[in-house]
Amino acid sequence: MAQRNTWQRERVRDALADARGFVSAQSLHAELRQANTGIGLATVYRALAGLAASGEADSLQSPEGEALYRACSTEGHHHHLICRSCGLTVEIEAKDVEQWAQRTASLHGFRDAEHVVDIFGLCATCANRQDAASGAAQ
Ligand SMILES: [Zn+2]
Ligand SMILES: [Zn+2]
Ligand SMILES: [Zn+2]
Repeated sequence: MAQRNTWQRERVRDALADARGFVSAQSLHAELRQANTGIGLATVYRALAGLAASGEADSLQSPEGEALYRACSTEGHHHHLICRSCGLTVEIEAKDVEQWAQRTASLHGFRDAEHVVDIFGLCATCANRQDAASGAAQ
């Protein structure tokens, strides 16, 4: 491809770094549109896929099957705890999971096994807010 649109990719990378948790291409695009960048949704998709491929962003699938992206501060293999209400993301190590995955793969004769394990739930703040809200309704 002759035209690489580097500034657009940079802009998408910046927007991703500003997001507090995992975001979809669509919500990132909405943000960039508010900032009048003129970057199209297809370009956002391409930029995010490129950032994920080069290891500059983490990608995962939401329980609804939507692709989500984040500029992670941890390099290398790690897992995530994600609040499904506010999007707060915590990067975690999971030694138990690594051992279990290795063992299970080799038990079945698999080599070069990879895995993706992310936990979706309600963070403490959102859980408290929900409790307070349901308490007030009673
Ligand atoms: Zn991460
Ligand atoms: Zn939350
Ligand atoms: Zn792992």
